[in-house]
Amino acid sequence: MTVVTRFAPSPTGRLHVGNIRTALHNQLWARRCGGRFLLRIDDTDAERSEERYVDAIRRDLDWLGLTPDGEERQSARFAIYGARFDALVAAGRVYPAYETAQELDLKRKVQAGRGLPPAYDRAALRLSDAERVRLEADGLRPHWRFRLDHDAPIIWDDLVRGPQRFEPATMSDPVVRRADGSWLYMLPSAIDDVEMGVSHVVRGEDHVSNTALQLQIFAAMGAEPPAFAHGALLTGAEGKLSKRLGSLGVDHFREAGIEPEAVRALLARLGTSDPVEPFVDPEPLVASFDFARFGRAPARFDEAELAALNARIVHRLPFERVRDRVPGAMGEAEWLAVRPNLHRVDEAADWWGVVEGPVANAVAEVDRAYLADAARVAGAIDWAEEPWAALTGALKVETGRKGRALFMPLRLALTGREHGPDMATLLPLIGRERTVARLTA
Ligand code: GLU
Repeated sequence: MTVVTRFAPSPTGRLHVGNIRTALHNQLWARRCGGRFLLRIDDTDAERSEERYVDAIRRDLDWLGLTPDGEERQSARFAIYGARFDALVAAGRVYPAYETAQELDLKRKVQAGRGLPPAYDRAALRLSDAERVRLEADGLRPHWRFRLDHDAPIIWDDLVRGPQRFEPATMSDPVVRRADGSWLYMLPSAIDDVEMGVSHVVRGEDHVSNTALQLQIFAAMGAEPPAFAHGALLTGAEGKLSKRLGSLGVDHFREAGIEPEAVRALLARLGTSDPVEPFVDPEPLVASFDFARFGRAPARFDEAELAALNARIVHRLPFERVRDRVPGAMGEAEWLAVRPNLHRVDEAADWWGVVEGPVANAVAEVDRAYLADAARVAGAIDWAEEPWAALTGALKVETGRKGRALFMPLRLALTGREHGPDMATLLPLIGRERTVARLTA
């Protein structure tokens, strides 16, 4: 079997962390199986879909390292939907219905009052030809419903949720096309899954009941259904469904200095029993990705966890991944020296500022004489070996200082700060000339 997955966002807004997770899982599964990962733009709703969101979705996926292997747009496929629709109408599986929204609302209220499930009562199926003609003569245009088969329960084995069962008799025949001819989500999605050879539908658990309906649509089209994997929802760190999650997307991550590798490493493992690890390369995430490892409980997305993971990833990023984002004069050695101190890549510029100077004169008056000694020693030691060890070793012997009294005045004079990268790594970058100048300043 050729594995084909699809990520199918509606271009009515930016991607948020929940969508990003779905996109990633689709991509990882396709990679794991040597298959194809498609982007399907669900833009049947012309009113709500916007081109700027289509562009943003593509850019966001590129930034995340989730560039699809192919792209399709539903708005370019209406003729395909029309042909499948006509066949389903001819087979009696799709039928016209004439109720207005108000009428349907009233029916639901009556059903609720009687303690019945709010399923559509199929009144339209009982209309005679004469009644239909009269309704249309009154100027009513029908919308269209898919007629569910009530004979047997709908069952499937979900790759995340396990065995699933729905009773079609308790469900409404879904509306698949509006009176103005426009398409709702349900039918085009199933048609595309057939036409594009989608083998695995990977999406959020909010689509579980759609899957029950779509399984009958696949059967009505005479098509083998794909496999389904419905991921549990994400919640905020407090364990509650959080509004904030809906606003966390690529722009937010970029501004927070989060690397795409960190987003991927977290979202690939969140909700599984596997540990979240700071993988820089995609391979280990691909190799370990398996729907069976995901639980059914909501997964907690914690921004603090992402930031901490991000720092661990920054500590491992090779120079070629950051070259364009660090000061031009910084080379590999400089990157490797400052990398362990960073939470985010753009902090490298701060540290580069410390190497190149000028640095703040933060030295206490009482240490002036000590620093004058240090400047003299710094001018005399061998800089080719380990200048920090040589400098502090000589000063220890000469002045009798040790510990903080030995190191801190040097760090302050050389970097202008109390904390920072390991001085042994930093000192060769600062170099003899700047070291002597800063110690005598
Ligand atoms: N456009 C739908 C959504 O964003 C796609 C659902 C699906 O994957 O089938 O929810």
